[in-house]
Amino acid sequence: MRADLHIHTTASDGRWTPEEVVAHVRAAGIGLFAITDHDTLAHVAPTADLARRVGLAFLPAAEVSAVVNGTGVHILAYGVDPTDPVLNRMLEENRRRLNWVNEETIRRLARAGYPVDLDAYATYQHDPSRGGWKALNFLIDSGLCQDVRDLMDRLFTESIPPPGPTSPTPPRWQRRPGPPEGCRCWPTPACPFTARG
Ligand SMILES: [Zn+2]
Repeated sequence: MRADLHIHTTASDGRWTPEEVVAHVRAAGIGLFAITDHDTLAHVAPTADLARRVGLAFLPAAEVSAVVNGTGVHILAYGVDPTDPVLNRMLEENRRRLNWVNEETIRRLARAGYPVDLDAYATYQHDPSRGGWKALNFLIDSGLCQDVRDLMDRLFTESIPPPGPTSPTPPRWQRRPGPPEGCRCWPTPACPFTARG
């Protein structure tokens, strides 16, 4: 059986809705799949439902941001319970931090003299079907960069570093690898965090 255990949806930085994921999975002849959105379980239940209806094996999962020894990493957690309150609290905190990274990206570029500001960013409507994340698409639409590589290679420099995964203050459970106490998922290290990734 073919399997794909690493798919993102429009709940995080992917371009496909749950319906589109399931259609692509079927078209590719994949029998077992997981969606691994960054720090959210929002599309796990709807995707599970669609998978069940068409007879696909589905593994509920998430790609969890964490900090290990000062380095940001993404940990793939498989077999999660999307209603688990402990896991959901942790992911909510991670999303708050991702929002901060987005806003801080805009703040740093504004301070460096780029013509952007937080007020315009606050009212900007992010279209998830484009993929990527809000600050990236805002900067593309402001005409300041072409894509994520351009953002990281040209706009951010040694004097304007991209906001790191450890700021502002890592929550307690992000200071060590693995899931928080009481969480029964199976954590698997993914790739080391890069701002490109
Ligand atoms: Zn991923």
